[in-house]
Amino acid sequence: MDSEFAKHDSKVCCLECYNEHFAPKCIQCLKAISNGKLISYDEKNYHPDCFRCGHCNKIIIDMEFPTHNSKPYCIQCYNQYFAPQCTQCFKAISIGKSIIYNERNYHPDCFRCGQCNKIITDSKFNIENSKPCCTQCYNEYFAPRCGQCLKVISVGRSIIFDKKTYHPDCFRCGQCHKIMTDSKFHVENCKPCCIQCYNEYFKPQCSKCLRPINDKYTTFQGKNFHIDCFVCVKCHRIINKGENFCSDQYGVLCSICSI
Ligand SMILES: [Zn+2]
Ligand SMILES: [Zn+2]
Ligand SMILES: [Zn+2]
Ligand SMILES: [Zn+2]
Ligand SMILES: [Zn+2]
Ligand SMILES: [Zn+2]
Ligand SMILES: [Zn+2]
Ligand SMILES: [Zn+2]
Repeated sequence: MDSEFAKHDSKVCCLECYNEHFAPKCIQCLKAISNGKLISYDEKNYHPDCFRCGHCNKIIIDMEFPTHNSKPYCIQCYNQYFAPQCTQCFKAISIGKSIIYNERNYHPDCFRCGQCNKIITDSKFNIENSKPCCTQCYNEYFAPRCGQCLKVISVGRSIIFDKKTYHPDCFRCGQCHKIMTDSKFHVENCKPCCIQCYNEYFKPQCSKCLRPINDKYTTFQGKNFHIDCFVCVKCHRIINKGENFCSDQYGVLCSICSI
């Protein structure tokens, strides 16, 4: 027996037989890979010498190599023929180094704020005029400003009211200046008004009984009336919605009394 032998299934096997029957085969030269030095890629085995660039045929020695259509390539060929191009500097982007934004590729160094041109390192950034914008510039140039304190509203909750944006803490009742925590509020003189102040200062009052109106009401000649208080001066009947009536200096007359 040859001094060189191999083992297969714990049986000793001469090298010739091993190569012929059991050794992995190189997909490139179709010869056996006997010494265990093989490169596996895409579930295929290669002799290290057979693992070559799909374009220039140079042996690929780097552990990290680029691929295209599941073929390996040397860095040079990859950069020249297949690498994505940077949207900013138009140069090739090596493997694994590309920032993809909006289906465009950038070198990490080329992904810069459209305003101050600083490299954007933060994973959080804004988009303004379809360009990335760093947080500082966003705050300075684009962030909405509070309608009350005029400071930037950069993070967190904001309240939009009457086309203006407010910090939640700045959105206050126009009367008592309490922070409006309730999502329900009234608007008086273009300012938000809390329910308490509304009830106290603005709630419509019935012109007849002078009590506040909580429910539906009738408005006539700028005056508000409880539905029950809008009655004919003559017969005291409630004037129904849609019913014809007329008015004189004494008050309103229902459709029957006004004939
Ligand atoms: Zn080979
Ligand atoms: Zn090549
Ligand atoms: Zn670039
Ligand atoms: Zn910036
Ligand atoms: Zn504010
Ligand atoms: Zn209030
Ligand atoms: Zn009333
Ligand atoms: Zn009447």
